[in-house]
Amino acid sequence: MSIKLGIIGGGQLAWMMSDAAKKLGVELIIQTPSQNDPAVSIAKDVILSVVNDHYATEVLAKKCDVITFENEFVNLPALSLLEKQNVCFRPSLSALSPLLDKYEQRCYLQSLGLPVPNFFDFIEQENIADKITQLGLPVVIKTRRHGYDGQGTFIISELAQLASTINHNQSRFLVEKFVPFTKELAIIAARSVTGEIVTYPVVETRQKDQVCRTVIAPADISKTQNEEIVAIAHKLLNSLQFIGVLGIELFLTNDGKILINEIAPRTHNSGHFSIEACATSQFEQHLRTVCGLELGKTELNCASAVMVNLLGYETSFDSYQKQRQELAKIPQSTIHWYGKTESRPSRKLGHITVLLSENNQQQIEGIIQQIESIWYP
Ligand code: ADP
Repeated sequence: MSIKLGIIGGGQLAWMMSDAAKKLGVELIIQTPSQNDPAVSIAKDVILSVVNDHYATEVLAKKCDVITFENEFVNLPALSLLEKQNVCFRPSLSALSPLLDKYEQRCYLQSLGLPVPNFFDFIEQENIADKITQLGLPVVIKTRRHGYDGQGTFIISELAQLASTINHNQSRFLVEKFVPFTKELAIIAARSVTGEIVTYPVVETRQKDQVCRTVIAPADISKTQNEEIVAIAHKLLNSLQFIGVLGIELFLTNDGKILINEIAPRTHNSGHFSIEACATSQFEQHLRTVCGLELGKTELNCASAVMVNLLGYETSFDSYQKQRQELAKIPQSTIHWYGKTESRPSRKLGHITVLLSENNQQQIEGIIQQIESIWYP
C-alpha cells in the first residue's frame, strides 16, 4: 500500500516532490491556501487552508500516515497538541522548534559551538544605538519570523536609517554584524529515521537585493572548508535528531572563515540543481527520509551545474513562452516552470539548470550571462 504523506505548504517546493512521489509510490496530500498554488495540480488531495491553521492540519492528519513541511511558517504550539495525539510529524516539532525564529536559531547554533556572525536581539522600544555602535556599522536587521527571499532583511549603514526601518515593521528583530563575505555558500543535508546522514556537494549561491539569483555546483572552496561545512551539517542534524532534508546557508569571509547565515529546515532553492545533477534529487531524498526509506546517492553526475532562478521583474499575467523557448535551446538545460498565475518583481516563477561536462569558471559565467540576458528585458 502506498504511503500517504501530508505536506503543509503547496508552493514550488512541494510541487517539485511530484516526480519523486510517483517514483516511490507516495501519495501527496497538501494543505495550502489557494487553488492556484503550484502543488495543487500534483496533489492526490488538497486541504484548502492557510499553513498555520492547525484545525486544517488536524483534517490533514486524518488522511495521512506522516506529515512534513514545505515552509517554516507553522504554528508550533498548536501543532504540538496534534503530536501529543500521535500525529507523526517529520521532522519532529522539537527538531523544528529552535529553528523557526532567527534569533532563537542563532542562539541554538551558538550553544552548539557552531560559527555565526555576532548578533543580539532587540525589542522595539529599547534604545539600541549604543549596542549597534558597539557591534560596529554596518549591521543587518532581520525580522525574527516569517522573513523569506530577503523580505524582512535590512542592511543599515548609518544609525539614521534605523528608526524608519523599525517603525515600518511592527516586529521583533535580530541585529547582526554585516559580514563582508567573499562568497555565499550552501549545503543540503539529509538525515534518515535510522540516523544515517548524507550531504550534497557544497554550492556557491549568489544573491542580488537579498534574493538568490544563481547557484553553482560545486563551490570552488578548499578541501578543509568543505570538510568544515560537512561537519557543521552532521553536528546540526544529529543535535536536532532531524529527520528530513535541511539547507544551510553560509558566508565565506575574506580570511577563509566559515560562518552560518541561516538554516532552512526543509528543501531549499540552493539544492534545485540536484534534480538533474545528482542521482537522487533533494526532493526524492526528503521523501525517502520522512517515509522511512533508505537514503539515495548525492554525488554530482556531471563536472558542474548551474542553476539560475527565473525571477519576476514586473507585475503581469504573462507566461513568458517566448523567453522559455529561447532558454530551452541552451544545451543540457532543463527548465522548471512553477505555473504561478501572476508575476511580481522578485517572485520565483521558475528556474533553469544547465549541466556541464567541465568545471570551467569562464564557461559557467558565460552561461549565467546568456540565461539572464534572455530572461531579463
Ligand atoms: P532570508 O531568510 O529572507 O533569505 P537571509 O537572512 O538569508 O534572509 O538574508 C538574505 C541575504 O542578505 C543573504 O543571502 C545575504 O546576501 C544578505 N545578508 C544577510 N545577512 C547578512 C549579514 N550578516 N552580512 C552580510 N550580508 C547578509
